[in-house]
Amino acid sequence: MGPGPSNINARVARALSAPLIGHLDPYFLEVMDEVVQMLRLVFQTKNRLTIPISGTGSAGMEAAFVNFIEPGDKAIIGINGLFGQRMADICQRLGAKVIAVEADWGRIVEPGSLTRALKAHADARVLAVVHAETSTGAWQPLAELGEACARSETLFLVDAVTSLAGCLVKVDEWRIDICYSGTQKCLSVPPGLAPLTVSDKAVQVLAGRKSKVSSWYLDLGLIMKYWGKERVYHHTGPVSMIYALYEGLRLVLEEGLEERFARHRWVAELLEERLNSLGFVYYAQPGYRLPMLNAVKPPKNLDIHHTRKRLLSQYNVELGGGLGPLKDKIWRIGLMGESATKENVDYLAAALAEIMNG
Ligand code: PLP
Repeated sequence: MGPGPSNINARVARALSAPLIGHLDPYFLEVMDEVVQMLRLVFQTKNRLTIPISGTGSAGMEAAFVNFIEPGDKAIIGINGLFGQRMADICQRLGAKVIAVEADWGRIVEPGSLTRALKAHADARVLAVVHAETSTGAWQPLAELGEACARSETLFLVDAVTSLAGCLVKVDEWRIDICYSGTQKCLSVPPGLAPLTVSDKAVQVLAGRKSKVSSWYLDLGLIMKYWGKERVYHHTGPVSMIYALYEGLRLVLEEGLEERFARHRWVAELLEERLNSLGFVYYAQPGYRLPMLNAVKPPKNLDIHHTRKRLLSQYNVELGGGLGPLKDKIWRIGLMGESATKENVDYLAAALAEIMNG
């Protein structure tokens, strides 16, 4: 019940231990095609360029920027937590001019502030936000931003590492141009792949670049020669992880997206009810709290370090601690994918009640 990795289903564990075959084997190429089709369903997109990037969520983030930003480009970035900061860091390394639109940790970045920044910097290459800020539990609204970017040259870039397969992410309807995720959160597959989808508008920007993409490994033009029709070797495909993602995506689609989102919602409501009655206070802005990442302040009579350690050693429950300025201030309780169950909530609430009652 930490902020990821989440638990995996036995079917995903079995897929991981399936015999290896070559990453250009005809059977494996079929598996790749099916993974792409299922990713499109989960991202709710028709984007041709939809693939899992080899690497964790940060590889998805880096791929999302390194392919579209050239030195001197402007990048408008919403920063209200650690992962917005990471986006800005990556852009600075790429020689971009970062226009930071900041909000306090725990609050959303006001869409109005972002659209005002877009008006003031109509030549910005990207406007980027984190949909689910895992460091704080804030749930960023997106729809209005996509519309604003669609009326301009700017690409709308969204980090959906924690949100994908846990709450609505409608890439096409919300006019998102670049969206990436990670396998270890609500998809409930081990860390190691970063699903990515890119709109035609963004593909055109890629084609019109003046300079070479500065990362060879994450160059989408090269990677697509392996994932597209040509099937040219770029880097060795992570065969077992693709098997695991294949099975993880099948599980998501068997459950149904709406059903899965509803499960995350009601399990989070149940957790909130239990924690409120134990005196916990939620950290993120009311009305914008993620179901899959619950940032909470424990009551004063509970030792924040000792209790978390005891939950792990005595009850076998993992929770996340606070990051950055929230270190020592909050816990981050994950209810992601396979881990989002009533049993987990009941077990955690019972363990806490036992600890609190001495
Ligand atoms: N973006 C968000 C919102 C995340 O929560 C994380 C990881 O927790 C990342 C990016 C980076 O992913 P990874 O740690 O898998 O590289």
